[in-house]
Amino acid sequence: MTDDELLLETDYTSYANSCRDPHIAPGDDLVECRRQRGHDDTHGTRAGARALRWLAQQGLGPLPA
Ligand SMILES: [Zn+2]
Repeated sequence: MTDDELLLETDYTSYANSCRDPHIAPGDDLVECRRQRGHDDTHGTRAGARALRWLAQQGLGPLPA
């Protein structure tokens, strides 16, 4: 997934339908994943004009099916 694709997904996903995985960004800002709930790959959100990604941490993500 490119940064553009990630930004597009976050922009078109409503907060209610987003994954909302919490993440401490550089600078101690708490951000939440704004990709679609149930997405594959890394978590991500928009940070200004840039895309921010992080890996799921074991035990903090969704429960395995
Ligand atoms: Zn996520």
